[in-house]
Amino acid sequence: MNKLRLLLSGCLLLCLSMGAIAQKTYIHCGQLITGIHEKPLPEMTLVINGNTIEQVAKGFVQTGEQDRLIDLSEKTVMPGLMDMHVHLESETSPKRYEENFRFNEADIAFRSATYAKKTLMAGFTTVRDLGGTGVNIALRKAIEDGWAEGPRVFTSGKSIATTGGHADPTNGVKKALMGDPGPAEGVVNSPEDAKKAVRQRYKNGADLIKITATGGVLSVAKDGQGPQFQMDELEAIIETARDYGMSTAAHAHGTEGMKRAVLAGITSIEHGTMMTEEVMDLMIEKGTYYVPTISAGKFVAEKAEIMGYYPALVVPKAKTIGPQIQKTFGKAYQKGVKIAFGTDAGVFPHGQNGKEFGYMVEAGMPPMKAIQSATIEAAKLLRVEEWLGSIEEGKLADIIAVDENPLEDIHTMERVSFVMKNGKVFLQ
Ligand SMILES: [Zn+2]
Repeated sequence: MNKLRLLLSGCLLLCLSMGAIAQKTYIHCGQLITGIHEKPLPEMTLVINGNTIEQVAKGFVQTGEQDRLIDLSEKTVMPGLMDMHVHLESETSPKRYEENFRFNEADIAFRSATYAKKTLMAGFTTVRDLGGTGVNIALRKAIEDGWAEGPRVFTSGKSIATTGGHADPTNGVKKALMGDPGPAEGVVNSPEDAKKAVRQRYKNGADLIKITATGGVLSVAKDGQGPQFQMDELEAIIETARDYGMSTAAHAHGTEGMKRAVLAGITSIEHGTMMTEEVMDLMIEKGTYYVPTISAGKFVAEKAEIMGYYPALVVPKAKTIGPQIQKTFGKAYQKGVKIAFGTDAGVFPHGQNGKEFGYMVEAGMPPMKAIQSATIEAAKLLRVEEWLGSIEEGKLADIIAVDENPLEDIHTMERVSFVMKNGKVFLQ
């Protein structure tokens, strides 16, 4: 399904440009990080035709008369960045919890369009949205059809939880409003429920499945770490998702729930806070990706110090879980667990996704590996590496640039100065 969408968007651009003389865009790159080479390539030219990278050439190639030149000869150019864990529907604030009672879907939709644009302007041309109300599916369509500007979105729609679990939408509300949410709302309590919830998401237009395998920090519930699914429920979700070609992502802080999800065959572990060496070994054996979201951990730990920012039940969880993620990430990287870049943007302000690079480097990951985790590795996790994730001939023209050399100053990733998505320039 994803393949079809990518091809269709390519065809549209091609058809539009066929009327005129095919104008190509030449980009002169001071240095080029391709996503696949271990070192940057100096003085390169990219030739973009429609939405495709037609040529990757050495030196600064002269343009034809009808062609356009984009001069990035003073900049470092690289593939569009990919954040594997965002929530485009919402953003942190002390009012966040009461919004659940005031906001209709249209209110969420207008705001999410703004968050999507901020994300794109920060250099993130592709994101994986791991849970909201389901408006994120409409947002994806609006961006694809040109009604809103934002990154390519791969979305899970509404996350799947168990009753009272991290993504149960009625946690903490009074009984009259609580009702009894079921598979359609993403709440399951048996393998049968689990199958139905996955199939409902497929029907709703989700690209992948997100589950909350353990308690979480920001839900109004006491436990932030305990397992919240049993093995037969996990297996039902993952096997059913496979039938529809959907990958699966598990939010997990505590060890037991994380281990169960890995054993059941989950595609990625999100946060992974209490990941033990045993779980790391299992993930290496099974090829499970780790999406760390260090940014979210740091942000919630910081805000938990401000009285009233979060509900009282959330504060102790934010203080214990938040500060641990960076250390876990460092260990997992050293051990050889596959890492894909992810921030949990929305838990902190959208557009600040680039800060994660600094946190990753601080924990011991070389800058080039951190950039690869947000390009080619993320593309592999999304199973779109044939079109995205590197600058190679034949791939889609998602290209960004930064002013400084990120291998010397990783914080330059927080100040992206050029953004092209699908061959179109959004920031220059
Ligand atoms: Zn999240």
